[in-house]
Amino acid sequence: MTTTPPDGPDDKTGEDSTGSTGDAGRRASFGVEPTTGETYNDLATRLAGPVNTAELALVAFLATIDPHARASTAQAVRRRGPAEAHRYTHAADIAVRMPDLFARMAADGRHSVEHLDALWRRINRHAAALARTGEALPGDIDAAVAAAVTGWEELWGAAGIDALADIADEVLTGQAPVSAAQTEQAEAQAVGLTRRGTRLILECGDPVVADGVWEQVGKAALDVRGELITEAQQQQEQHTGEADGGEDPELARARETVAAVTGTAAAGAGGVMPPPGMARCRGEAVLGILGGRRRQLSVTVNVYTPDPGTDPDPGSAPGPSGPDTSGPGPDSGPDAGPAGPIRPTPPAPPAAPAGSCGYVVGTGWVSPAMATVLTETAARVRVLPGVGAVADTAAYPFTTVQRAVVVGRDARCRFPGCRIPADACEFDHIVNSPHTDPDSDGVTGVSNCACLCATHHRLKTRKLWRVHTPDGGVTLHWAGPEGVAVSTVACGPLSPVRGSPA
Ligand SMILES: [Zn+2]
Repeated sequence: MTTTPPDGPDDKTGEDSTGSTGDAGRRASFGVEPTTGETYNDLATRLAGPVNTAELALVAFLATIDPHARASTAQAVRRRGPAEAHRYTHAADIAVRMPDLFARMAADGRHSVEHLDALWRRINRHAAALARTGEALPGDIDAAVAAAVTGWEELWGAAGIDALADIADEVLTGQAPVSAAQTEQAEAQAVGLTRRGTRLILECGDPVVADGVWEQVGKAALDVRGELITEAQQQQEQHTGEADGGEDPELARARETVAAVTGTAAAGAGGVMPPPGMARCRGEAVLGILGGRRRQLSVTVNVYTPDPGTDPDPGSAPGPSGPDTSGPGPDSGPDAGPAGPIRPTPPAPPAAPAGSCGYVVGTGWVSPAMATVLTETAARVRVLPGVGAVADTAAYPFTTVQRAVVVGRDARCRFPGCRIPADACEFDHIVNSPHTDPDSDGVTGVSNCACLCATHHRLKTRKLWRVHTPDGGVTLHWAGPEGVAVSTVACGPLSPVRGSPA
């Protein structure tokens, strides 16, 4: 299991596809497909619906032939290599195993091979681990997953690959908790550090730990970045001081001119040092940890489990409340000392009831065994009130409890198609707060809060996309440039809609 960095902002600003029509022509064609003159919005309306129908027609064909011939057939038809062909064979396998669901998706046309492949991978993840121990998944799992997905696939439409995967995991951890725990154990053993040439590859079998570590590496990298910038500034100041003291001002000016012309504006040349990139900073942070030069990592994991008093059925979605676990991982370095974050003496954690799975923000559903381990090792366990039971407050920032509830409700950035986990997001007042906008009256409360990643938060703040909610933040209706309109639904474990799949 490896983790990937969250999607960065898409900074492609250069427009170079419109040919030589001059500035006015460029501006005019910005929202228009240049060949036909049709607006992109009309194009999307006309084509986005059935855009995946042909893919699923091939899947339907593959489902009728010998399973051993599917991969070669898909590769021969698509000509895109074995990796893509295997996604088709997975999709065909799902089409055979869940025929009703497949028929509906194929008729809808918005669902793709990726959606079916995501379902297959989630189910097969457990099947593979169980096969190693000589066991098999319970036979009714396919039916349970198909039943759980029914209804949701219409609600979320084509944007919901992660949501689909979450639902599959929820059913699997709920209906086969022992199998899920065995899978987690088997995967957790796949930990290793290998060296390939000049590259070091860290394999982390446990996705919960992997996500936590990646996030912490990101934070450590920000520290490194700050240190590198400070160092560079000090060097620069030192050098400027020397230059002021000894160097001929004429020579110093000449040096600056050369640096400006050649673009080598580095420290020591009197120019501005460019800030080091995040990839380098992450590398420095990891190297520092491996070499023992930086403080050890502490890992924070937000886990949502049902309230011990409520959830009777391990297969159902958790009730609207649950403990929020902040678990320290390997946390014995100086960070854990007095200079570290304030940690009240943990009360005896209310252990999750036997048989209830947990939701880890950024990872998905985990088995009851894993949920219990995380809860028991946590430094802090918080029992959250229901989404509707959290009071609004007068101040501008959201309170800790408000934020914990909204993260559990949203699970991810609420912008259409964005996959950044909610606990790496910013907290947005859907209707602006009077603290920042005197003409607005948005309250500070769960019903007026949405998780948005930094990129999408900026788009909203700059009013490139506008949003309104009819139901206290559960549904967001987005209105974008050129009349694009898209809606998203909160899909976290605390979302009210999660309790009642159609
Ligand atoms: Zn986002």
